Amino acid sequence: MIDPTALLRDTFGFPGFRGVQRQVVDRVLAGDRTLAVMPTGAGKSLTYQLPAVALPGTCVVVSPLIALMHDQLRAALAVGIRAATLTSVDADRNETIARYRAGELDLLYVAPERASNDGFRQLLASAPLALFAIDEAHCVSEWGHDFRPDYRLLRPLLDAFPDVPRLALTATADEHTRADILDQLGIPADGLIVAGFDRPNIRYMIAPRESTTRQVADFIAEQSGPGIVYAQTRAGVERLAEALAGKGRPVLPYHAGLDPAVRRENQAKFVASEDMVMVATIAFGMGIDKPDVRFVVHAGLPKSIEAYYQETGRAGRDGDPAVAQLFWGADDFARARQRMGEVEPHRQPGERARLTALGALVETATCRRAILLRHFGETPPASCGNCDNCLSPPAAIDATEVARKFLSAVYRTGQSFGAGHIEAVLTGKANEKVRQRGHDQLSVFNIVTDEEAPLVKPVSRALLLRDALRTSEHGGLEFGPEARGILKGEVPVALVLPPRPERRRQRGGAV
Ligand code: ADP
Ligand code: ZN
Repeated sequence: MIDPTALLRDTFGFPGFRGVQRQVVDRVLAGDRTLAVMPTGAGKSLTYQLPAVALPGTCVVVSPLIALMHDQLRAALAVGIRAATLTSVDADRNETIARYRAGELDLLYVAPERASNDGFRQLLASAPLALFAIDEAHCVSEWGHDFRPDYRLLRPLLDAFPDVPRLALTATADEHTRADILDQLGIPADGLIVAGFDRPNIRYMIAPRESTTRQVADFIAEQSGPGIVYAQTRAGVERLAEALAGKGRPVLPYHAGLDPAVRRENQAKFVASEDMVMVATIAFGMGIDKPDVRFVVHAGLPKSIEAYYQETGRAGRDGDPAVAQLFWGADDFARARQRMGEVEPHRQPGERARLTALGALVETATCRRAILLRHFGETPPASCGNCDNCLSPPAAIDATEVARKFLSAVYRTGQSFGAGHIEAVLTGKANEKVRQRGHDQLSVFNIVTDEEAPLVKPVSRALLLRDALRTSEHGGLEFGPEARGILKGEVPVALVLPPRPERRRQRGGAV
């Protein structure tokens, strides 16, 4: 009989299992097929490493990235597990194959494309198998945000060894993706184990973007400790890093365009630092062990709720208070929709759902954490007390009239002007461009009241987010599919106004 706790202590040096680890390990040891959904840092690797040591035969681990594989190999070797990788870059492939045949390996890491290789299948058949572990299993789902066609090659391989238990692992899977993984990998529904996703020490804050540099700089000025700022492009990283430098903190850039040596050096400096700001693309952070990151800023919209959760999850791994701040713009949504047009048709519903979920998260007047956790299938309390909306509840106001006026102005100006021009027309600013085009003669000129004027900008954002407006190739605003219902007064538009500018206005008024 295997005693998992003793093995955990003696081989891995841990006093006890964490969270759902024990549950997962027990299923695997019993030979049951399992999908474990566990957030980053919850200790997924242990759930196959321990059975790999405990069971006779080799555990084959499928992993999508060679770099990640080599990190895990190092970690496994460090605790004395007999492990090897079998990839195109390994010079010791023949030796590894011989060791597998001789039954000398507990763990064998491979890339998914190897699965379709007949020679590889024959190799696996030549010695006892303990387990198939499929890491980053969401890659098997086209619904997931990181589909990799190679993962589809796994099923025939797994089915060729029907008695070998399979363990699929992922940190990021909404309900739809989970169902898909179970289906694709032949795991029964009762094999699903989901760990708690809440990170109570992370404070979630989300605000519309006005000026990226100023907002990010202001935010950082209020924080202490090391932090990461995610920009969407390499150019964005360079720009932000430059703008933030010289404000009293060390700032370094990180993106794939930098020389690998510089990248390594910057990463090492960040890991060692207690006050550094790393401005980076999302490539930064994967596999980095720095538990005291105090804040993560997104200067633009992440790809999905899963991506947002994973990226913000790099803050506060030590359990101490940390902040996740996201600045989003309507143009982020417009761009994402444009990109959506470029993916294969059958993947579009998934992309659309991802964007809708993000829209709901950034626009909500309710608890951000509740939305996140519900997304991961949990039933959280309605209010967490540690997100911007819980800490200072925003006012929700009806902006349907302003939205209709905005759409009318877009229509009457020929659906070819940007938000600034429309705002000028609506608020009666007869600037040169407005006069030149004769837009001061339109019925929509100066049609919003002084009270409504501050709502014009947020309304344009809300309309873009709802797909009532789109940005054309020429940069002008044009109607999207949701415009009609709003224009006809059938669909209301509620706006969430963050309380802070309100206060600022009042203070301004008192002076
Ligand atoms: P994941 O892959 O889920 O992000 P890892 O497998 O990399 O997480 O584990 C995260 C960290 O937690 C590692 O440093 C690992 O050594 C540690 N860890 C895993 N299980 C335990 C445990 N039962 N007790 C203490 N530390 C653990
Ligand atoms: Zn909350």
